[in-house]
Amino acid sequence: MMNKPDSDFLVIGGGIAGMLFAIKAADVGTVTVLTKAASDEANTAYAQGGIASVWSVDDSFESHVEDTLRAGAGLCNRDAVETIVRDGPDAVRELIALGTRFTRVEEGGEDEYDLGREGGHSHRRVLHAQDLTGREIMRALGEAARLRPNIRVLENHVAVNLLVERGTDGQPGACWGAYALEAGGHAVTKLIARTTMLATGGAGKVYLYTTNPDIASGDGVAMAYRAGVPVANMEFYQFHPTCLYHPDAKSFLISEALRGEGAILRLPDGTPFMKRYHPDAELAPRDVVARAIDSEMKRLGLDCVYLDISHREPGYVRERFPNIFKRCLSYGLDLTRGPIPVVPAAHYMCGGIVTDLGARTAIPRLHAAGEVAMTGLHGANRLASNSLLEAAVMARRAFAGAREQLKENTGAPPEFPEWDPGQAIRSEQRVLITHSWEEIRRLMWNYVGIVRSSLRLERALRRIQLLKEEIHSYYWEHLIDSDLIELRNLVTVAELIVRCAMARKESRGLHYNLDHPDRDDAKWPYDTMLKAGDSHPTPSAGRPA
Ligand SMILES: Cc1cc2nc3c(=O)[nH]c(=O)nc-3n(C[C@H](O)[C@H](O)[C@H](O)COP(=O)(O)OP(=O)(O)OC[C@H]3O[C@@H](n4cnc5c(N)ncnc54)[C@H](O)[C@@H]3O)c2cc1C
Repeated sequence: MMNKPDSDFLVIGGGIAGMLFAIKAADVGTVTVLTKAASDEANTAYAQGGIASVWSVDDSFESHVEDTLRAGAGLCNRDAVETIVRDGPDAVRELIALGTRFTRVEEGGEDEYDLGREGGHSHRRVLHAQDLTGREIMRALGEAARLRPNIRVLENHVAVNLLVERGTDGQPGACWGAYALEAGGHAVTKLIARTTMLATGGAGKVYLYTTNPDIASGDGVAMAYRAGVPVANMEFYQFHPTCLYHPDAKSFLISEALRGEGAILRLPDGTPFMKRYHPDAELAPRDVVARAIDSEMKRLGLDCVYLDISHREPGYVRERFPNIFKRCLSYGLDLTRGPIPVVPAAHYMCGGIVTDLGARTAIPRLHAAGEVAMTGLHGANRLASNSLLEAAVMARRAFAGAREQLKENTGAPPEFPEWDPGQAIRSEQRVLITHSWEEIRRLMWNYVGIVRSSLRLERALRRIQLLKEEIHSYYWEHLIDSDLIELRNLVTVAELIVRCAMARKESRGLHYNLDHPDRDDAKWPYDTMLKAGDSHPTPSAGRPA
């Protein structure tokens, strides 16, 4: 009997990129969506600020392109920027058509979408649903997916490895799905599909402090890298400048839309300090703000700094930021009455799996979109609210190509072996996992954080390589579970970040090395690209600065 795929499309990840792709793919085939936790637990659900797109008549594509290129510090791929910016309004219209309710206002007697302004944007162009934009997008996409019988969502299923054909020379051929583990158990199943979409989001959990939820452990990057797909620019990790600093608040982000609406960063004695770092003060790009806070905290030995919007009218603050207002109040902090304590935290992975503008990776029939992918849009630094934009646009573009592929790919899949646990035994020493986990995250925070040095990076690499050896032998000797899968991926991502950071002997965008404090356009107008088996990242000449 002919070997048959389980579905036409396997989508690994149910955030904006995965869900939007799945909804579109369901028009032409059967779709399986894997989500590692509950289907609404994704970075997307936490997005507060909104989605950037040229919307008002006063705005222009040229202006959005220029703002994006400026933020990207000479490393954006202009083609990617222009394409994604120009596709933005259609992608937003599709989100609206699928049921997303962005906030509207009365403007000169007209009922319009309210457009927010954020740091680095020269126009108001951020559509938002109050300050719960991501939740609203997830609600709309979740409901749209449920209406499509062709979509099967497998919650609490962790993709482990990609199923990739190998040629006789060992080189990767086409991708045919993935091995997946049902969380809470040890059984691994094969999920065969004609087209695979990696939409696993970011890797904030590689750092001690992060705004990301627990699902963000870089699984997609690690899986693709192991399969032989090049990844790039992993040194550019964006730290959000303002995460609430409170012992009970886990990763609660204070949107930069607050600074867009006039909030001021202050030292404990009330002194504002951002003007000393950048002429745009609080509206400077994120990396500048995060480094300024980091530098003030280190200079004065502070645990945090303060963000103050109490000079704005209280009713306005409550209405514009209802979620942030309520959450802060639940910790006894009233935004309308005084400053709140904030610290920077790992937020967004600008690098990732290298894709073209059809979301195609180097492996045939393996696509990647959203935070996991590196299209060239962000360069060395992401402009606020450009990530939801990129994820939505690239999911749509991926579908356009995948639909054509599906018509051509009608043959039987090859035989892939069942998952073989070998002599693996049940893990009895959880402490080995939890300790390694904490060690990686602390090490990355201290040595590979907002400000780096060559010595710290060398030390980090030595420790990570040792941890990697230990984790890998533990992985093969024990029955796998979701914690062990994440740990293996996390150490891979940590190594990729460090190796890319070591290769870049300059400071640019989000990467700041005290030993190479200047930008070097003569030597480093390149991406740092790494493929499994490479001893060093290669500057990718394919992308002119
Ligand atoms: C607090 C916060 C605020 C933000 N605010 C904004 C904003 O205002 N504007 C903006 O543009 N961007 C914002 N971002 C960034 C933006 O939300 C993300 O970049 C974007 O949502 C990523 O979408 P995604 O679809 O790529 O991944 P995600 O939404 O993270 O989804 C990842 C999915 O992959 C699944 N997954 C992961 N690993 C596996 C595995 N091994 N097996 C199976 N499933 C797996 C997860 O379960 C999840 O379903 C914010 C991010 C955070 C954390």
